[in-house]
Amino acid sequence: MNIRFIGAVKGVTGSCHLIEFGDKRLLLDCGMFQGKDDELNYQELPFNPADIDYMVLSHSHIDHSGRIPLLVKKGFHGTIYCSRPTYDLCEIMLLDSAHIQEMETEWANRKAMRAGRPLIEPLYTQDDAKRSFKYFKPVLYEQIVNADENLTLRFNDAGHVLGSSIIEMWIKEGQDTVKIVYSGDIGMKEKPILNDPAVIESADYVIMEATYGNRLHEHIEKREKELLNIILKTVLRGGTVIIPSFAVGRTQEIIYELNKYYDSHKDLDEIQLSFLRNIPVYIDSPLAAKATEVFQRNAGVFDKEAREYLMRGDNPLIFANLHFTQNADESKQLNFSDEPKIIISSSGMCDAGRIKHHLKHNLWKKNNSIIFVGYQAEGTLGRRILDGAKKVKILGEEISVNAEVYNVEGFSGHADKNGLINWLMNFKKKPVKLFIVHGEYQAKADFAAEVEKVLGIECIIPEYDEVYEIKANNMVEEVGIEKPAADGTLAEEQFCILIRELKSLKALFEHTLKQLEDSLGSQPVSAAKCNSINNILLDLESDIVNLSMLIGK
Ligand SMILES: [Zn+2]
Repeated sequence: MNIRFIGAVKGVTGSCHLIEFGDKRLLLDCGMFQGKDDELNYQELPFNPADIDYMVLSHSHIDHSGRIPLLVKKGFHGTIYCSRPTYDLCEIMLLDSAHIQEMETEWANRKAMRAGRPLIEPLYTQDDAKRSFKYFKPVLYEQIVNADENLTLRFNDAGHVLGSSIIEMWIKEGQDTVKIVYSGDIGMKEKPILNDPAVIESADYVIMEATYGNRLHEHIEKREKELLNIILKTVLRGGTVIIPSFAVGRTQEIIYELNKYYDSHKDLDEIQLSFLRNIPVYIDSPLAAKATEVFQRNAGVFDKEAREYLMRGDNPLIFANLHFTQNADESKQLNFSDEPKIIISSSGMCDAGRIKHHLKHNLWKKNNSIIFVGYQAEGTLGRRILDGAKKVKILGEEISVNAEVYNVEGFSGHADKNGLINWLMNFKKKPVKLFIVHGEYQAKADFAAEVEKVLGIECIIPEYDEVYEIKANNMVEEVGIEKPAADGTLAEEQFCILIRELKSLKALFEHTLKQLEDSLGSQPVSAAKCNSINNILLDLESDIVNLSMLIGK
């Protein structure tokens, strides 16, 4: 059994690792290289996609999922395991990515034709993206999934973006079982909307990200205040606030935080608050609008606070002055008006999408503010602005950077050094080795030194295309249940957990029943909605009968 590292080893993009066991091949993510590395996407893949049996997809971000349509175009026909929200998000994100590929190729080809150069092909098309969807197999968090007799998987919430997962993999080769944990991207605790990263207690080997392996985030309580202060200061002087944001995840978190702020308004007086409430917030990204819908469809994985909003009948992703632009014309109109406003647009690193237009029209005005709320990879336009460039080239034009540039770090999707170390401290037995990926070199090296000092775990920072042999260490227990009793029965502690789960389900069920009764009594319900409710109820009924049969045995 071995692991081969073929992406996210020189930086943070292009995540892709290959595990070979028996005669099977399992790919962990297949993301797009971005920023300075993006030409790597056009290199020949270092394996034959048709030979891959399974993929485990940690989350929907393009630097983890973006080359899936390329794999399919090149012959992949295996099974892609991921969480349900990851699948829902991939459906819109991979199509969007394909659309960008097609547009950029068309643009490059027009130039090539004029210069008499040969034409190029897009990396993949929207048809390739659509063809890839049939290989996805969504699973639930904490569900034990037997991919085959030698491979068992369990997805756990990583708290990084909706659907993001830390994956436990039990891999059998001959008589030996090895447990490998792939962290994907690990979120920060107490992120809006999402649960904290799941605690994992055992592994032989861990493959782990270290994006912020040598940095500490500012205290996250400050993030909303800082964001709101910059917004208030800017709009009060008549300026526009531009927030380059990942369409998926960060945008919804900012909507959620703004909504929460308008609700609680702890440190604003009434005049400031009513002024702020009248400032339009434009979400200028078709992808962000679609992603917000996906969030609303997957409220089952929201954290307690966000669920409480919903239980009260208050949608935390909607407020009065929030507008989603409908088309490119509306987007352009935003830059013809001088009204103070907030524009949230993607891409988050400013390399593509409508954000480029907004930066072109707003960066040179000193009244305005640009607020970065996410990681800016080396080589991206966002990183150049953040690093203090006085002039930047956008859409072929040189633009002065006169607007105020801020970095509100608390919104990071990634745990910081302490968050990563604390997550590792949950392991009851130390993993034999920790492979550190997904980080710039210094972040990985510093993190490795810290892990070795604090936890005494051997760390490896793999180079591109390095292969490591993996051996069984007889460290981990049976799949799923970490500590079965000697006779194989369920420990009392675990039995109590099951009872607690059932009771909380019962409470949820009663609440939903009441909601349904109230809603049916007060407003007409469409036939389509009735059908959807009925279908879900039929599924529920069948699951409950199965559960009861299993318990009765
Ligand atoms: Zn990510």
